[in-house]
Amino acid sequence: MAEIRDQEIQKDSMRFRRNLERVGEILSYEVSQTLNYSQQSVQTVLGEKQILLNEDDIVLCSILRAGLPLHRGILNYFDRVENAFISAYRRIKEDGTFDIEVEYFASPSIDGKILFLADPMLATGRSLVSTYQAMLPYGQPRMLHVFSVIASRQGIAYAQKHLPDDTTLWVADIDEDLNAKDYIVPGLGDAGDLAFGTKM
Ligand code: URA
Repeated sequence: MAEIRDQEIQKDSMRFRRNLERVGEILSYEVSQTLNYSQQSVQTVLGEKQILLNEDDIVLCSILRAGLPLHRGILNYFDRVENAFISAYRRIKEDGTFDIEVEYFASPSIDGKILFLADPMLATGRSLVSTYQAMLPYGQPRMLHVFSVIASRQGIAYAQKHLPDDTTLWVADIDEDLNAKDYIVPGLGDAGDLAFGTKM
């Protein structure tokens, strides 16, 4: 987390992406302890071994584009999950406020499955909640886990108010403030730009 926030180390975008991935890996390990496992038999060349394997159907959905490195980190652990992608961005209005626009969306059915939502910067929480709502035509998930690198107190409160009661938020760090543009302070800056370059 120190490297992710450090404005000098951030200039190395490959390292920045890899550090987001590493957070995804660490959070995945924590989440894995809450899932369901059953004994399954594995045949080695010398015998048989009973091993606990995860039996949940999981869909991992990430918000483009900043969510991609976190998504990859989660996939490094949960390599067999199904995947969904959504583009949700802030459309800034003339008065400086913004609407969340959801455009591209590709998802398998999420009905009865565990839904992982990867949103690296949980600032206002509005993109996250819009994403969840946009997914509901694809079914009713039985459980929701949110993965985030930095969350603001305000974003956490908004998510807790608008997401189902059994949602679990897994965040690597919490910051107190948002600035006038709704960036997390001290945060890390713009995660999408740092990972993939500035956009027009
Ligand atoms: N998105 C970012 O990349 N950073 C923030 O601080 C808030 C949203």
